[in-house]
Amino acid sequence: MLLITCPWCGPRSEPEFSYAGEPVMRPGPAEAVSDQSWADYLYMRRNDKGPHQENWCHAGGCGQWFMLERDTVTHANLRTQAPA
Ligand SMILES: [Zn+2]
Repeated sequence: MLLITCPWCGPRSEPEFSYAGEPVMRPGPAEAVSDQSWADYLYMRRNDKGPHQENWCHAGGCGQWFMLERDTVTHANLRTQAPA
């Protein structure tokens, strides 16, 4: 089980959190976006091996969203950061 450090609550167990994937920029404006660009936005992710940024929500705690940088090989939490 992962131990995730919420920027507001401190270390908590993974079941308290909801994973929302890596941060991606929404393409736009909508009328100018190709079908391929939209499909890439919806489905294609980098899925890096090693340090990787992910969005998480402390749904079972304070309810705040934050960015977690996690090593996908060791599952080590490298840092957490509140949204800018
Ligand atoms: Zn929290």
